Amino acid sequence: MPELPEVETIAHMLTRAVGGRTVTEVAVLWPGAIDRPAPEAFVHAMTGAHIERVGRRGKFLVFALGAPQMLLVHLRMSGRFRVASAGEFENADQASGAFPHLRVAMRLDDGRWLLFINQRKFGRFYLVENIEEVTARLGPEPLDPAFTAARLAERLENRRGEIKRLLLNQHFVAGIGNIYASEALWQAHIHPERRADTLTSAEITRLHAAIVDTLRAGIVDGGTSLEDRQYVYPDGSLGRHQRRLNVYDRDEELCPRCGYAIERIVQGQRSTYFCPACQEDVTTEDQT
Ligand SMILES: [Zn+2]
Repeated sequence: MPELPEVETIAHMLTRAVGGRTVTEVAVLWPGAIDRPAPEAFVHAMTGAHIERVGRRGKFLVFALGAPQMLLVHLRMSGRFRVASAGEFENADQASGAFPHLRVAMRLDDGRWLLFINQRKFGRFYLVENIEEVTARLGPEPLDPAFTAARLAERLENRRGEIKRLLLNQHFVAGIGNIYASEALWQAHIHPERRADTLTSAEITRLHAAIVDTLRAGIVDGGTSLEDRQYVYPDGSLGRHQRRLNVYDRDEELCPRCGYAIERIVQGQRSTYFCPACQEDVTTEDQT
């Protein structure tokens, strides 16, 4: 699933590709992709909408359409946008023939198409007047200067769950997913199963720096594209951060820091990758 760096990269690319354009025609090929309003109302409201730019909140793409509405899109597992050149398709049905998993097609005023393709159908569109309708319960943005180590420490108080699972909780902090949680915990030398409220202030400071570093590095690299190719750019190209991952998807390879074999465990039905040698499990030691 695309995480903060991937969604950020897609938002920048979409701003460059479709910012300033007006939507002249909308086709919803699978109504389930439209969370709100009803699909007919969505088509009516989006037709004529002016795309000012595309931003991000958590893992949501945010299309600024000018008051009084904005379009939020969550890509979930396999949702992606593709920009088709003018003349590539006469109409949405033709586009659908070329892309069997096409769910929403929007023709732009220069003749190009903005296509939403989603094999596993979990991606959702939310056309709202107030972003808070969708994002009110999201946690803080980890790259916001207001998200300091002290703020992280406050949020960790009384959290008894495992730190890795907490980092994936979008209400705790927005935008982090499985890849960057594993990478940040490795950088911070923290075991993924550590109980969150047992982290020392030194560990919290390291974790905060590691979260910021790993997300920024991901953005610089244009995100991570894994072998399943579920995250690709709107122009079909791939991210580059997969070459720089230290532990994620590298079980049985050697830890780049200490040379011990990286392990994979399952937490909350998600794979976690870590180094059992240099990500010390203090909780376990306390029990023995
Ligand atoms: Zn190690």
